[in-house]
Amino acid sequence: MKFIDTHIHLQDYKTRYATDIINESEKIGVEKFICVGTSPQDWERVEKLYQEYPQKIIPAFGLHPWYLEEQDEEWAEQLDAILERNPKAWVGECGLDGAKGREIKKQEEYFIKQIEIANRRQRPLIIHAVKCQHDMENLLTQLPKKSIFHSYNGRMEMLKKIISYGFYVSFSFSILKNKECQEIVKSIPDKRILIETDGPYQSPIKGAETYPKQLSELAEMLADIRKADRENFIKLIYQNSKDLINE
Ligand SMILES: [Zn+2]
Repeated sequence: MKFIDTHIHLQDYKTRYATDIINESEKIGVEKFICVGTSPQDWERVEKLYQEYPQKIIPAFGLHPWYLEEQDEEWAEQLDAILERNPKAWVGECGLDGAKGREIKKQEEYFIKQIEIANRRQRPLIIHAVKCQHDMENLLTQLPKKSIFHSYNGRMEMLKKIISYGFYVSFSFSILKNKECQEIVKSIPDKRILIETDGPYQSPIKGAETYPKQLSELAEMLADIRKADRENFIKLIYQNSKDLINE
C-alpha cells in the first residue's frame, strides 16, 4: 500500500526529528509529503527540508490566518520570491478562521492576495477554512481549480458548495468528531477525496503528535464509512494525490 500525506508540518514536530519521520514513513509506504509552511518564519525550514529530500517533499508556502499580525508588508513579495525559486511548490496554507485571529475582513485581504498569487503562478492552493462559511462562499468563484480544503471539518451545507465547484477535500482524524461525519465523508466524489495527517497536529489521542504511519488507520476508517473496499479506497486516494502533483 502506498500513501501520500497531503498535509503535514514536518518542521513543527517537537518529539522527533523530521528526518527520522521521513525515513520511518518510507518503510510503511508513505511515499511523499506535502510539507506545509504557515508564515515567513517557517518557510525557510520547509525549503531546507525540500532541498534535502527533493523526491519526497512537495513544499507549500503560505501565510496562515492565525499569523497575520506578526508580518511586515513584504510578506507577499517574499512569498512570490520563494515560489519563483521553487517551481514545484504549492501555495498555502492560507484561508479564513472565524474562531481565531484577526477580524474576518482583514483575513480576507491576506487570503485574496494568496489566491491571486496561486492563480497567476498556476499552483495548487491549500485552504484552511474554519467557521467562515458566508465569507468563504463569496470567494469560491476566485479559487484555482486545484484548490484543497484541508482537514475539512465544517458543515454539510458548505461542503455541497465546495463539491459543486469541483475542489478537493482532504480529511484528517478531526473529521471523525464531526456530527455530520458519516454524511460528509460519503458525499465526496471519488476523484476529489484526499487524506492527510496535518501532523504533528490533529491527533486522535489528546496531547500526542500525529505521524504519517497513522494514515493507513485513517484511510481504513474512511473506507468503512464510505462502505468501500479498503484496498481500493487506498489506491483511489493515492491516485488522486498523484493527479494533483501531476505525476
Ligand atoms: Zn496545517
